[in-house]
Amino acid sequence: MTRPNTMSALVKAQPAVGLWQEQRPVPEIGPDDVLIRVKKAGICGTDIHIWNWDEWAQKTVPVPLITGHEFAGEIVDMGRNVEGLSIGQRCSGEGHLIGKTSRQSRAGRFHLDPETRGIGVNEQGAFAEYLRLPAFNVVPLPDEISDDIGAILDPLGNAVHTALSFDLLGEDVLITGAGPIGIMAAAVARHAGARHVVITDVNADRLALAGQVADVTPVNVAQEDLRDVIARLKMKQGFDVGLEMSGNQQALDQMVEALVMGGRIALLGIPPGKSPVDWSRIVFKAITLKGVYGREIFETWYKMIAMLQNGLDVSRVITHRFAKDDYIQAFETMRSGKSGKIVLDWT
Ligand code: NAD
Ligand code: ZN
Repeated sequence: MTRPNTMSALVKAQPAVGLWQEQRPVPEIGPDDVLIRVKKAGICGTDIHIWNWDEWAQKTVPVPLITGHEFAGEIVDMGRNVEGLSIGQRCSGEGHLIGKTSRQSRAGRFHLDPETRGIGVNEQGAFAEYLRLPAFNVVPLPDEISDDIGAILDPLGNAVHTALSFDLLGEDVLITGAGPIGIMAAAVARHAGARHVVITDVNADRLALAGQVADVTPVNVAQEDLRDVIARLKMKQGFDVGLEMSGNQQALDQMVEALVMGGRIALLGIPPGKSPVDWSRIVFKAITLKGVYGREIFETWYKMIAMLQNGLDVSRVITHRFAKDDYIQAFETMRSGKSGKIVLDWT
């Protein structure tokens, strides 16, 4: 096949704030890999940490590294062992590269493999014209799922994995944090048959966006008390299920207070460090807490594609689209906190 030897990529080229657009060699693929021509790529909060070169990024990310892990594209080359895929197949893919030797992996619980390495974080990533990926990680895209949506399946997967942690049918659900993932989780909770879906934030733009994407009750907790919302919605005790998607300590405290006895909480948001928790409240309310990491490989992918085919619509969470060459503007928009998902066009 004919393709160039070099490609454009967004690289953490120096241990400093920012990303640099550079020409890099097109990746070589091994016998079990595919080469993907990236068409669209989503910017994630993780990419902002890497751009900002914060403490986490400094101790995690090797330099130089091609960043980015949310993508959709097309298979353009395949290693000799690859079966069941074909050149031209549109795809997205799981960005967590797992080992095959841990107890969890050997039990098929791939998302719990402690050896996991992330593309765009530990390994060369997807903000590039071409991406090397193990064929195992490829998720083919059905025709009705666009490249734009394909590029946000990774965070939609976080939302789906978290939201489907507990049965939501007929339940009252509280989501704290109306970032892109919280907003998509609200749409999923609605799709999964929840009764009331309330989403909180302190950012009015984000709450407005939540109302445009999903049939939810947005609450600005800087202005309104959740107890008043519970009364307004005529709920008897409180929320049955909480999805924590802000990483904010106050949000978790408010969630514990607003939950029913025996309520269940799935925690996706990452607090900035150790944070104080009133454990006695959690004990006396007999609350179940579940930590959530990534997506279930590949059950979450199966479920989210099925839901997208069956009417789940998260398209309005994408608020901005930029050409790859305008990546600085795209990152500035993302860092302003005034956007939903932002998609970069690599074609
Ligand atoms: P985001 O930062 O865009 O959204 C978080 C939102 O929380 C923001 O809109 C912010 O205004 C809001 N917030 C702040 N204080 C609040 C408060 N007191 N009450 C309610 N909301 C408040 O993040 P995102 O990209 O949507 O991701 C959500 C969270 O999930 C982040 O913490 C992220 O780090 C985490 N995450 C975890 C995993 C995982 O595998 N566990 C994967 C992806 C993202
Ligand atoms: Zn991501």
